[in-house]
Amino acid sequence: MTRVAVVTGGTRGIGQAISCKLQQMGMAVAATYNGNDANADEFAERTGIKVFRWDVADHEACLEGVRKVEEQVGPVDVLVNNAGITQDGTLLKLAYEQWRRVIETNLGGCFNMAKAVFEGMKQRSFGRIVNIGSVNGQAGQYGQSNYAAAKSGIHGLTKALAQEGARFGITVNAVAPGYCDTDMVAAVPSDVLAKIVSRIPVGRLGRAEEIADGVSFLCTERAGFITGSTLSINGGQHMY
Ligand code: NDP
Repeated sequence: MTRVAVVTGGTRGIGQAISCKLQQMGMAVAATYNGNDANADEFAERTGIKVFRWDVADHEACLEGVRKVEEQVGPVDVLVNNAGITQDGTLLKLAYEQWRRVIETNLGGCFNMAKAVFEGMKQRSFGRIVNIGSVNGQAGQYGQSNYAAAKSGIHGLTKALAQEGARFGITVNAVAPGYCDTDMVAAVPSDVLAKIVSRIPVGRLGRAEEIADGVSFLCTERAGFITGSTLSINGGQHMY
């Protein structure tokens, strides 16, 4: 049976690696993105994965987007809530708009997408939801009150939805990556990045494929007894 997976932000960085991994595992994948059409078109052409454009922070757009995916690809069995952004600043410099946008995208997006797929998963008695958190949601990070709050919220959302989904065959887990070599981290100044890497016991940034390997296992049938958990993949940067 071919499972259908939606990966939000599935056209770049960690999301791209997750989309490709799920495709390799035999799933029919729909990858979403927000605005970078050129990148998404190149990704679709190269991989044969269908791409869909909408903003995960927009509740109605998520409901409509999932309807389109279901028409074109099929009922959604697997959801990976990966889309995320940073808009950093210490509290005194952080504008309300930066707070709102990051919370609505990173945390609101997970709610919006779960809401769009949960009923169908319940009716079909199968679902896998994996929410991408962050080491900075677990440990906090200077200059990232918006991002850390949103990511920390994802861990609470995951545990609550895991309890709601368990008896319907829906598992909900989180993966908390450490710093990985993607566009998001390329935006960090090189001296700051060097300091960050010096604090990672493994001694390097993570690779998107290493995050995808963890996520993809949680999307399998075999992972049916794992729910409400967080898998940290961070090179030993934060252990608890
Ligand atoms: P990238 O910036 O490389 O890619 C982000 C992807 O998300 C793109 O496909 C982008 O679409 C999409 N996206 C952004 N905003 C929206 C939105 N509002 N609606 C729909 N899609 C959106 O990110 P990473 O791969 O680095 O990060 C992926 C996830 O992993 C994020 O949740 C991030 O917080 C988390 N993470 C990343 C870490 C890292 O070191 N990179 C560490 C810990 C967690 P488009 O191409 O159109 O812009």
